[in-house]
Amino acid sequence: MTNKELGGEMNQDPRPRPTVVVIGGGYGGVNVAKALDADVDVVLVEPKDAFVHNIGALRALVDPTFLPKIFLPYDRLLSHGRVARDRAVDVTAHRVVLASGEAITADYIVLATGSTYPFPAKSNAHDAEDAIDNYRAAHDELIRADRVLLIGAGPVGIELAGEITARWPDKHVTLLDFSDDVLGDRFRADLRAELRQQLVDRGVELVLGDGLRGLPPTVASELGTFTVTTSSGREITADIWFQCFGVSPVSDYLSDDLATARRSDGYVTVGPALQVAGHENVFAIGDVSTADAKMAGMAGMQAQLVAENIIKMVNGNNTLNPYEPFGPAIVVPIGPDGGSGQLPGQEELASRDMVATIKGRDLMVDRYEEILGLTTPVSN
Ligand SMILES: Cc1cc2nc3c(=O)[nH]c(=O)nc-3n(C[C@H](O)[C@H](O)[C@H](O)COP(=O)(O)OP(=O)(O)OC[C@H]3O[C@@H](n4cnc5c(N)ncnc54)[C@H](O)[C@@H]3O)c2cc1C
Repeated sequence: MTNKELGGEMNQDPRPRPTVVVIGGGYGGVNVAKALDADVDVVLVEPKDAFVHNIGALRALVDPTFLPKIFLPYDRLLSHGRVARDRAVDVTAHRVVLASGEAITADYIVLATGSTYPFPAKSNAHDAEDAIDNYRAAHDELIRADRVLLIGAGPVGIELAGEITARWPDKHVTLLDFSDDVLGDRFRADLRAELRQQLVDRGVELVLGDGLRGLPPTVASELGTFTVTTSSGREITADIWFQCFGVSPVSDYLSDDLATARRSDGYVTVGPALQVAGHENVFAIGDVSTADAKMAGMAGMQAQLVAENIIKMVNGNNTLNPYEPFGPAIVVPIGPDGGSGQLPGQEELASRDMVATIKGRDLMVDRYEEILGLTTPVSN
């Protein structure tokens, strides 16, 4: 019996499926693409050959056996849509031009191009194989360094100090920042005090409230002894250094009517439902957007909301749900078993055990393997 005889054609929705182009396959992009895959034609544009689970990047630096867990292939993410391995170079409200020259006409566009951050916290190599080589090379250099200087005592600097001292307790790690305290003032004072104490207990030397007169003369992540001087005249000698500051949003591909939503600092201004200012069909989520704090968890929540709102619009309902910012929250591991955090609605700081369970022990690998379709559901 044919599909026609079964009435298949009569039951089919006569409307063509709208095309949604998701630009960027990071934490926000994979979530929104997956959530929309059954209902619309999704094209996920991403120049890398694998999703980079950069939450695990610092563990992978000290323990290269972790590397395969942070590069997750895209080929099982979508059942209907496609992943275009390419880079968006010119994007206007209904048209996405790729570096290869392909132009895609889009009914909806989701900007999810995130941010860059210096290696090793993020990797900008497009091939997972090259990225893995870079991490292995930095690991080999780090093994041979007795004294390590980490410049920037935000979450990345703190986490890297924890990873290095957990793996090599004898290395001397100096964590330096021109701010008076670790972590930054968005977070609670008792959390900063707890993290400081745990770092000191591990032998990390904290140099706070004292910037450098200039960056070290050697290349970051490469072995080479140097001495730097702080503003107060203190000299620090180390064998390797890592840059633990410098988030930069990626939005240089916006043009014409969309370019006006790009702020001078590169972030894209969005309204309550995460629509790009002045454009109902274009959304921005994650690190590139002005919606909330720059965190993978927030990017994931924004992705779910935007997917729901696009499905509403496709069905003719333009009453969109607004995004509720999550509020200050952070979990900072110090090695696999230490760290602390602050969570919304909780007076107590997150205990070491809680931090290890939420993040420190396995760095949330399972969750992202599942999103990328790499785990088989367990059948009873
Ligand atoms: C070491 C470290 C640990 C972290 N730990 C946590 C944590 O525990 N919890 C948490 O919530 N957050 C954490 N974060 C923050 C988190 O990684 C970011 O908030 C997150 O990466 C933002 O996701 P995103 O999807 O917006 O962007 P990204 O993850 O930056 O992804 C953007 C993607 O867009 C692609 N892209 C860029 N330009 C183009 C273009 N022109 N065309 C097509 N594609 C493009 C990029 O290749 C990239 O794959 C951590 C960050 C670091 C550095």
